[in-house]
Amino acid sequence: MEAIPYGRQSLDSDDIDRVTDVLRGDWLTQGPAVAAFEEAVASLCDVPHAVAFSSGTAALHGAAFAAGVGSGDVLLTSAITFAASANCGVYLGAEPAFADIDPETFNASAETVSAAMNERVRAVVGVDFAGLPAPVEEIRRAVGDDVALIVDASHSLGALHPDERPVGCCDHADMATFSFHPVKPVTSGEGGMVTTRSVELADRLRRFRTHGFVREPADLRRSGEGAWYHEQHDLGFNYRLSDIHSALGLSQLGRLGHFVERRNEVAARYREALAGVEELELPPAAPAGGRHGYHLFVVRHRSGEAARRALYDALREEGILVQVHYLPVYWHPLYAERFGFCEGLCPAAEAYYRSCLSLPCFPGLGEADQGRVIEAVGRLAPAVA
Ligand SMILES: *Cc1c(COP(=O)(O)O)cnc(C)c1O
Repeated sequence: MEAIPYGRQSLDSDDIDRVTDVLRGDWLTQGPAVAAFEEAVASLCDVPHAVAFSSGTAALHGAAFAAGVGSGDVLLTSAITFAASANCGVYLGAEPAFADIDPETFNASAETVSAAMNERVRAVVGVDFAGLPAPVEEIRRAVGDDVALIVDASHSLGALHPDERPVGCCDHADMATFSFHPVKPVTSGEGGMVTTRSVELADRLRRFRTHGFVREPADLRRSGEGAWYHEQHDLGFNYRLSDIHSALGLSQLGRLGHFVERRNEVAARYREALAGVEELELPPAAPAGGRHGYHLFVVRHRSGEAARRALYDALREEGILVQVHYLPVYWHPLYAERFGFCEGLCPAAEAYYRSCLSLPCFPGLGEADQGRVIEAVGRLAPAVA
């Protein structure tokens, strides 16, 4: 029997046609597809500005740069996230810090962020873990207006806050970032985006994406040069997204609503079928008014570490490629050794990590395959307890 991955892209012939259209055209990069993709994401998120990047990691790096994060500063994020949510501050010479998770949501909360705050925190990166929007409004109230608030929305494009506003709307955050890696809500192969309401932040993001170059005559330090003239003001990178990638992302975006609906259907079936498996704790659902993105469907084994390990091994043995998301970021040796983090810093995150397992959850997960997962989980979770 074929292996079932935990996540996988859904491409159709339209996606392929849009990409080959670009390959037959004049622009492989920096052409019209990038701007069209940016406009479509801005419109979906109901924000004035969206800036495309070559990956979600580059988008986070750009957002932390635009927020002014540098050496001497602290960048605070959730202990349970992909390392890039914290790496973006380390790239800029900042020190990382971590907020524990709320075990009810698996997200950092206003309380856990407040408990981890200090006067050197320049930016807080909230994470919409598994596709459930972080409580941005409460976190903003807790940290005040002098701290930059960035949402790592890599898991949650297409999800809604409890007030029915779209993820990425930046009603309370300064910026939100997205990833278009193949397992994410929509894919461009590789790719990322930052949304913001601030024209200044959007300018800084665009500049950072292309080496730190400045071309607008009003902004140049030296005058009287010709039309070719440009200056480098910041140490930026080449973080541009190509037109090839943008065309795929734009085409995928047209099916985002369908993808999120399918993920919610997969989650609903797991909830119903696994409700009677007493050894498992099912993940938090979206609050009233909200919509979960279900990038991940994470169960926790109530018997803890040894049972989770045995369940992981047994499911993998049967070709069900469950995953563990994530190790507390500060456990990584780079973080522990360079910054002196120790086990025990975030107890809820560590207990979560020792029990969690991500089941296959993606739009193209067929009924029979999901049935196979449900049968195996229902049989093995009690057996390993
Ligand atoms: C995927 C992901 C990223 C990084 O995105 P890439 O496009 O792979 O660089 C950052 N943060 C989170 C939470 C992610 O899941």
